[in-house]
Amino acid sequence: MPQPHILKITEIFSSVQGEGLRQGEPTIFIRLSGCNLKCSFCDTKYAWEESQQYSVDQVLEEVKKIRQSFPAQWICITGGEPLLQDIDGLTKALKKEGLKIQVETNATFYRTLPVDWYSLSPKPDRYTFRPEYREKAKEVKIIVTKNLDLESIRRLRMSFPEKTPVLLQPQSNRKWSIILGIKLLKQALKAGLKNIRLSVQLHEIYGMR
Ligand code: SF4
Repeated sequence: MPQPHILKITEIFSSVQGEGLRQGEPTIFIRLSGCNLKCSFCDTKYAWEESQQYSVDQVLEEVKKIRQSFPAQWICITGGEPLLQDIDGLTKALKKEGLKIQVETNATFYRTLPVDWYSLSPKPDRYTFRPEYREKAKEVKIIVTKNLDLESIRRLRMSFPEKTPVLLQPQSNRKWSIILGIKLLKQALKAGLKNIRLSVQLHEIYGMR
């Protein structure tokens, strides 16, 4: 008998999407374990290692259970780096349930999947991303780290169509990062860069996960 495909998952929980353009929308998060990058500023380091094993059916069961009291339409598959694992079966099963799927990725991997919303967050120093995302990304989030400069913002801005917003997101809502984000936004405007916006981690303000 074929064995079910097993996914390593850190947590499954309900909240609102705190980041990016979908901010504020009720969402069920599936956080996959493991990441190929080890960013010093990572706010989900626990997802690098902590995991439980789930089959796709078990994930669906958990999602259905959560939706009984929190019937969100959106699922956010996040990490860690969720595209390290084969989530083809999971995304297809979620689509069969009529749900919308967001994937948050550091953009170093690409898989052809039935995803409604790719949320990209390329990471320093090189901000590498797979070229397939040029047209597919709905938004590009740049974490405002201490070394972020206008040149990196310009490079990412020029790499994506103008209609794709580039969001400057403060590192864990820290004050210094918010101040730097405002400064960089002004510099970007003066430099003629289009569709750059400030963001914030809304779930932290609301005291949610
Ligand atoms: S890519 Fe994201 S999840 Fe991975 S280490 Fe960096 S911040 Fe953390």
